Amino acid sequence: MILELSPAQAAFRTSIDAFATTVVAPRAAAIDESGEFPADVIMAAAEHGLLGVTIAKTWGGLGLDYLSYAVAIEAVARASATVAASLVVHNSLVTELLAHAGRARQKDLWLRRLASGGAIGAFALSEPAAGTDAANQKTKAARIAGGYHLTGRKVWVANADRASVAIVFACTRPGLRGQGVTAFLVPMEAAGITRTARADSLGVRGLGCMDLDFDLTVTDDQVLGSVDQGFRAAMWALQGGRIAIAAQALGIGEAAIAEAIAFAKTRQAFGQPIADYQAIQWMLADAATELEAARMLTWKAADAKDRQERITTEASMAKLAASEAAHKAADRAMQILASAGYRRGSVVERLFRDVRATEIYQGTSEAQRMIIAAGVLAAGRV
Ligand SMILES: Cc1cc2nc3c(=O)[nH]c(=O)nc-3n(C[C@H](O)[C@H](O)[C@H](O)COP(=O)(O)OP(=O)(O)OC[C@H]3O[C@@H](n4cnc5c(N)ncnc54)[C@H](O)[C@@H]3O)c2cc1C
Repeated sequence: MILELSPAQAAFRTSIDAFATTVVAPRAAAIDESGEFPADVIMAAAEHGLLGVTIAKTWGGLGLDYLSYAVAIEAVARASATVAASLVVHNSLVTELLAHAGRARQKDLWLRRLASGGAIGAFALSEPAAGTDAANQKTKAARIAGGYHLTGRKVWVANADRASVAIVFACTRPGLRGQGVTAFLVPMEAAGITRTARADSLGVRGLGCMDLDFDLTVTDDQVLGSVDQGFRAAMWALQGGRIAIAAQALGIGEAAIAEAIAFAKTRQAFGQPIADYQAIQWMLADAATELEAARMLTWKAADAKDRQERITTEASMAKLAASEAAHKAADRAMQILASAGYRRGSVVERLFRDVRATEIYQGTSEAQRMIIAAGVLAAGRV
């Protein structure tokens, strides 16, 4: 087994790292402060192909593998967790699902634009009573001649502030939970969509999260994939998304530890840099070890996805391990910087807030443990 990037993957990571350092990082604090969706940065990312990393070149993407995508997200997240999260939603949950399940006409209409930066996508699954229990969809798609009438409310829809199109999930067969959900491609400018106030959140501020109320008619042409198979499609997309959120978490954790290392080398206490104290060194050692272990799980899951293997358990393991390692890394960085980190506006303070979302969105840590346990119990071994 080869545990290193190929020269092409390494070169891609280097180029995205340069973009993230020079273009994204200088904007990170202002994005966090204002909470405004960074449309200009997302468009700059599009110029580097970051809106269609794994999408085939024929549809306007870069046609790269999942490991390349994961290391790109990790590099962007080191600069801004918000920009990385926006790209994950757009790539993993929208463009990849459209490429996977969409019909040629739907791809003609949306995929090329989405992959090349002409449009931003959103993924509307969560509802007030359907978060972890995502099959409990209350948004209804009632059958009418030639299509469906959609009514209901979606919450926390990332990118919704600027998205041109959303994949919206709705119940087509009440009582059947995951067996009776259908996915629809819905243009965001359609009459009958009310975007309510942007969510003001603890971290990943500027993600453009909005609640959406639907009361509109869609045609049969807007069904994405098969009728009643939308929940399965959502779970397929979320598996890729979890690998990408693992990569996002790694980037946040690495950024926090980089701050801690720089501080520890210069901050003097009792006549020497605090980096000389074993108490500080052990925090850095533990964080480095946990992040590296999580990176291996993330790369393994990405590689398995590239080889089209089953990744349900692997993606959940990667997300669980990386989000918890990054959370602990940000916590340790805060401890090492102490009051300098706790000060409002410090980089570590932002990362400390940003990292928390990685244990919540695209399935909470409890949801990941449920998935992993189901896999382990079914296999009868680890
Ligand atoms: C910043 C942000 C961006 C988001 N972006 C999107 C988006 O773009 N699109 C979208 O559709 N959604 C999005 N979400 C929603 C996100 O997916 C949900 O918040 C998440 O799935 C958890 O659902 P919930 O918040 O309703 O928590 P709940 O499901 O209410 O869970 C509450 C608690 O109960 C636990 N719990 C629930 N069931 C069980 C169980 N069976 N066993 C043990 N514990 C359990 C949970 O783990 C959690 O700790 C976003 C959320 C955030 C915070």
